Amino acid sequence: MVNEALPKAGQTLLINGNWRAANDSSTLPLINPANGTELTQIAQASASDIAEACLAAANAFPTWAGLSGRERAHILQRAAAIYRERYLEDSPRWLTLENGKPLNDSLKECRYSADVLDFYAAEARRFRGSHFAGDQGATHSFVFQQPVGVVAAIIPWNFPVDLLAWKIGPGLAAGCTFVIKPSEEAPLAALLLVKACEEAGLPPGTLNVLTGDGQVGAALIERPEVSLVAFTGSVATGKRVAQAAAKGLKRTLLELGGSAPFIVCRDANLDLAVPEALRRCFSHTGQICISVNRIFVQRDLLEEFTDRFVAAASQLHVTSDGLAEPAADMGPLMNAHAVAHVQAHIDQARSAGATLLLGGSRPRDARFPSDGFYLQPTVLGAVSTDMRVMQEETFGPVAPIASFHTLEEAIHAANSTPYGLAAYLYTQDLDAAFYASQRLQFGGIGINVNDVTDIRSPFGGMKQSGLGREMGEPGLDAYREMKHVRYRLQLPRQ
Ligand code: NAD
Repeated sequence: MVNEALPKAGQTLLINGNWRAANDSSTLPLINPANGTELTQIAQASASDIAEACLAAANAFPTWAGLSGRERAHILQRAAAIYRERYLEDSPRWLTLENGKPLNDSLKECRYSADVLDFYAAEARRFRGSHFAGDQGATHSFVFQQPVGVVAAIIPWNFPVDLLAWKIGPGLAAGCTFVIKPSEEAPLAALLLVKACEEAGLPPGTLNVLTGDGQVGAALIERPEVSLVAFTGSVATGKRVAQAAAKGLKRTLLELGGSAPFIVCRDANLDLAVPEALRRCFSHTGQICISVNRIFVQRDLLEEFTDRFVAAASQLHVTSDGLAEPAADMGPLMNAHAVAHVQAHIDQARSAGATLLLGGSRPRDARFPSDGFYLQPTVLGAVSTDMRVMQEETFGPVAPIASFHTLEEAIHAANSTPYGLAAYLYTQDLDAAFYASQRLQFGGIGINVNDVTDIRSPFGGMKQSGLGREMGEPGLDAYREMKHVRYRLQLPRQ
């Protein structure tokens, strides 16, 4: 697929307003996970590209930070409008090609990304400081917010457009400049969001892009120009990022992996709980940080819930072409490593006594290209909390179902992993919902709702799922530094 809007193959670096190849011309192949074919080549940034991008961002900082909130808001709003007008066809198509999600899901992600820019455009106009009289003598205190400086934004492949918007939205609103390191596995759809920002009048150097693998991300963090590392990705990489940032005492915003529990109490409305659990287990092939990883059903409802869930899961439509079948329920996994990891979780659970209720392996249907990365929607019963599938992030289309007797027991089991991103509870008992919300150690809790993302509300993890919050007004915090100016009034000169 040729697209005039996208940079040419291998020329995916944006440095100081110029799209170009790496200085040493290195490239990486971009693979379509649905069939293993090469989509194009992306640039693999070299050390000198990384240095140039960081210097460009540092040089652009005074200009961008020096604009008023109103001026920054206008550019952000224009970027959202341009993205909707010019790129809402191509960006979702590339997203489907590079990361496998069916087109309707890609479209939803891209639309939401534009909404995020609009939201932070409005926030840019609301920045306020404070002033108060000091409590000693004739002093006054002024507290205001300033942008932190150059941000290294490192993005994963699963929501590459949205998660970029979650960073550049608040960061640009606050007055920061950026060096963006998209995922090497899904960079293209997000480049079109960057293009929309450029076309909206963003000064050159305000957003720079370095495509390439993890080594590019690691080298970027080391650069002295970088003040904040805004990272979304796995816990393992997040720990490496935190260590590297700590060497320079750089600020970090870390949005990491999860293992979300879905608790179904005996008074739950199963007409709601079953389809919502299903969607949150299997959409994007289970590769969402807030995907349901573990289902806990109160003992009296276990058989009914399981029967209905398995029946519904067996009807899911898996596609090998998310463009031709935009409304499919799920597509391929991202890569061979992901297939091996998910299969290992299934196999370990089965060898430890879990029952296979559905799926469990690659689909045998010839519709699925042998070089694509597929697994059937899988449901496991009789699981125990010590199995890998109940302890680690599976990040695949697997639903393990366990039972519990008391709510206390379910909360304890839900809290028994190192993760703390999202949890879901289905009940009609308001007291039980409040009680559990207090005790569940997760940054986002959905009560009778299977999504904890809301544009106005903070999103982020407790425990090893991260540090800091994105979205809503709190999403600005990482990008701003508070400054206190204390002023002594002197007697007027005679
Ligand atoms: P990943 O950690 O493998 O990679 C994320 C990014 O980090 C990529 O751009 C990669 O190139 C880069 N990277 C790799 N090594 C690096 C290093 N040493 N230093 C700096 N950068 C480096 O994650 P992934 O496989 O792309 O994404 C999936 C993971 O992301 C899952 O664990 C998922 O839960 C998590 N995630 C979290 C959220 C959230 O908001 N909490 C959202 C989406 C995805």
